[in-house]
Amino acid sequence: MTVELICVGTELLLGNIVNTNAAWMAEQCAALGLSCYYQTVVGDNGERLAGILKTGLERSDILILSGGLGPTQDDLTKETAAQVCGRKLVEDARSLSRIEAYFRERGLKMTDNNRKQALVPEGAVVVDNDNGTAPGIILEKDGKRIVLLPGPPNELIPMFEKSIAPYLLSLDPNGPAVIYSRTVKICGLGESGVEALITDLEALQNPTVAPYAKTGEVHLRVTARAEDEKAARKLVKPVVKELERRFGRAVYTTKNDVTLEDAVVRLLKKNDLTAATVESCTAGLLAGRLVNVPGVSDVFKTGLITYSNKAKRRLAGVKKETLEKYGAVSPQTAQEMAVGGAKAAGADVAVSITGIAGPDGGSEEKPVGLVYMACFVCGNVWVEEFRFKGSRAKIRESSVAAALTLMRRCILEVFD
Ligand code: ATP
Repeated sequence: MTVELICVGTELLLGNIVNTNAAWMAEQCAALGLSCYYQTVVGDNGERLAGILKTGLERSDILILSGGLGPTQDDLTKETAAQVCGRKLVEDARSLSRIEAYFRERGLKMTDNNRKQALVPEGAVVVDNDNGTAPGIILEKDGKRIVLLPGPPNELIPMFEKSIAPYLLSLDPNGPAVIYSRTVKICGLGESGVEALITDLEALQNPTVAPYAKTGEVHLRVTARAEDEKAARKLVKPVVKELERRFGRAVYTTKNDVTLEDAVVRLLKKNDLTAATVESCTAGLLAGRLVNVPGVSDVFKTGLITYSNKAKRRLAGVKKETLEKYGAVSPQTAQEMAVGGAKAAGADVAVSITGIAGPDGGSEEKPVGLVYMACFVCGNVWVEEFRFKGSRAKIRESSVAAALTLMRRCILEVFD
């Protein structure tokens, strides 16, 4: 079956917001085995939207739309889709009572135009929205389907996962199917290095293996399609095992919902270790990521921000001579920051970051993107040099991912 994505919104056309819904839905459709040949963005204009819908119905089996289901005048996706399918809009009692409850539970006053959101094309399947007011809508016309979804990603994504994906799978001409996937998450290796080791697996049909590059990580999603979840899991398992064998310690988890910071915190807890961070150019970003993890207070003691040389000396005990001789961005300073930070915090593990995030401040000898990190683990110290590329934000983000990876590697070296 072929699917076509249509994202509605003038703000998308103007570039005021990035079309993340299209990227996300395209990925989901591919994972569901649907072929997506067209994506369109159209403004809040009934005539042009109607034109896109008519063209879409001629060339695709399923049209999935996002946006324009809101209560205001310029939200006209539903009206236009109903008109193209020759349907009247009727009030859906269940949607109305859900919308009323939504406002009541939040202590908000419901306005008349919110009532408009309970209007649905006659004969449509109405899909509950657990995170907002506009219900999703599925329309059928001459064997083709039109699926209308709300624009806000926090409404669209859960609705797609809970209701739309199973619906799309139920349309499979080969009989109902389920999709099951697991993600093998790898840190400390680049995308091309990972890809080079999986070219044979990328050719598999069921399960499929697809790489996704994240900052400082590569995720390999193994997805199988089968008649039930048990059968799909059975297909996925040996491929996950094979990936674990190929990438060894670089795999920090094979669970979809575990992040790199989760893996680091688990490792600290498992080995009964406490940790501290000593950050210069990332100034708290690393501590912020660690503190994303619930229960981190059992292991995380202190996050020092030692931005100035004075702070490096005062808070982390970096020697004046070290700063004068080697500079703030140097392996020697990084090492003293980690050792001194561990001491100051009374922590078993401390990781330090010092670098040049740019855009200014670089030199030929020490260019923008040069970052030194050190990791202290129970008396042992490792120092690493990195050369990151990109904007200030990207360099800081890459530094944090590399610091988490370094922490994990050093703890494993001592305790595994
Ligand atoms: P609402 O019920 O909130 O009015 P809606 O279905 O009418 O939702 P829009 O008004 O089109 O949706 O968009 C609401 C918000 O959702 C946008 O301001 C934007 O933040 C987000 N959004 C809409 N479309 C997209 C998209 N394609 N990609 C990412 N975000 C989007």
